[in-house]
Amino acid sequence: MSIDPPFSPSLQAGHQQQPAERRCPCLPILPRSIKGKLVVSLLVISVLGIIATASAIYGMWRIEDKVRIIESFFELNQNVLEMRRYEKNYLLYNNTKDLMSTLDYIDQVRASIVTVKKFVPGSKGNLQSFYDEELGKYESISQQLMAEDLLLNSKKLLKETLRTHGQDITKRVFDLDAQARIQVEREVIAYQKTGVMILALTILVGGLLIYFLLRWIIRPLTAIREAAAQIMQGKMNSIPLNEAVSCSEEGIELVNSLNLMLKALDTKQSQLVQSEKLAAIGKVTAGIAHEINNPLNNISLTAEALLEDLPDLSQDDSLDMIHDILAQSDRAREVVHHLLEFSRAHKNNVTVRVDLVKLVNDSIALVRNQFRLGEITCNYQHPDQPLSITGTPSQLQQVLVNIMLNAVQATQPGGSLDIKVTAEDKDAVITLQDTGDGIPSQMLPNIFDPFFTTKNEGTGLGLSLSYAIIKDHQGDIEVKSEEGHGTTFRIKLPRIMETEV
Ligand code: ADP
Repeated sequence: MSIDPPFSPSLQAGHQQQPAERRCPCLPILPRSIKGKLVVSLLVISVLGIIATASAIYGMWRIEDKVRIIESFFELNQNVLEMRRYEKNYLLYNNTKDLMSTLDYIDQVRASIVTVKKFVPGSKGNLQSFYDEELGKYESISQQLMAEDLLLNSKKLLKETLRTHGQDITKRVFDLDAQARIQVEREVIAYQKTGVMILALTILVGGLLIYFLLRWIIRPLTAIREAAAQIMQGKMNSIPLNEAVSCSEEGIELVNSLNLMLKALDTKQSQLVQSEKLAAIGKVTAGIAHEINNPLNNISLTAEALLEDLPDLSQDDSLDMIHDILAQSDRAREVVHHLLEFSRAHKNNVTVRVDLVKLVNDSIALVRNQFRLGEITCNYQHPDQPLSITGTPSQLQQVLVNIMLNAVQATQPGGSLDIKVTAEDKDAVITLQDTGDGIPSQMLPNIFDPFFTTKNEGTGLGLSLSYAIIKDHQGDIEVKSEEGHGTTFRIKLPRIMETEV
């Protein structure tokens, strides 16, 4: 099983540099704050709404005018029809009263023409000629017919002329009416088109503004959420002030505050990591002290015996004892050498080519005394050739020492820890299998969590740090455990293939 820790310690620091702040290239005329953009957008939408309403009111008002034109033409039509009706009656029955009514309606037609002229300014010339000429002639014929001393032939001729003129007037008024209706229809259609265009423009601009507003608000939040996910995976250590975020002042402020918080968390974490390292060094140093103490004791005892029994000792025995002293001091020197290497490695955090076979061997040497004290057998199997990877020796050694110390603490006297280094395809694999108490299955998912510990004096950081270190080396760490039957850690690291050398 492989478990992601909820946070990655500062080991990744410097892994990914924060990019320089990038300015938003979009719409520089707009304010940079979301609040400002909201205000400007609402203003634009309001102005468009006002324009749309004003144009609708103007359109209604103009249409009302057109309705009045149609009404005035209708009235003119009616008066002309009435005038013609009396004219026809007169022509049929020769009743002077009908002729007088015709003359009355001529006045009404004139009044209607004045109204029409008021509403149709463009048709003034047309109507004026109709008013002056045609209606004038029709009136004069009607008046001539009123004379009582008219000869029969002249009357007949005048009646014929009246009819023909009347027909012309009807036709002329129908034509004018039809023209006016067509004109009105055209204008109404033009107003409708303008109204639809303004409405479409309002919907389009409003829609665009809503789209951009959502983008301006959602984009920075999405960018921050994605950056947070990357930080959780240990691929980043701060939220970049990229284009998506720097489009708004609020986005920049939020990112700056979150980055400050991350930095503070990182510092705290580094302090914890440091304390975990010190704890590991403390454990190792305690073991080393024992390790040095034993040869020193032996040297001191052998030297004392040599001093006391020197006169009675044979030359061979004396030489044996001196060799023993030399062997013991070699052992002490070797231990001090390992300790020096360990502390040097911890100061030197550089990435180099590392031989895993030697690294594991050195780590075992550091914990050897803990194995001895815990009466635990450590078996180490490895290839004869070096198995190289790229990495930071101090960090990898910290992982190995931590897992070995955990195994020592979990294993009863008489138990064992089998360590194996193997090459598998493109990876180097280290397996550490102990015969300890094992980890209860319900705890297994938590052991890589920071601060998870079952020990009174544990920090609960060892495995979470180990996980982060291995991930930082592009590797993987898995654990298998059965309560009462021991635990196996399997570390996989990409190895340097011989062709790459
Ligand atoms: P710590 O050692 O400070 O408790 P670690 O992160 O190193 O912190 O380990 C977390 C926990 O995982 C330990 O407290 C222990 O319960 C469990 N654990 C780790 N290694 C082993 C192991 N080899 N056998 C049994 N339990 C283990």
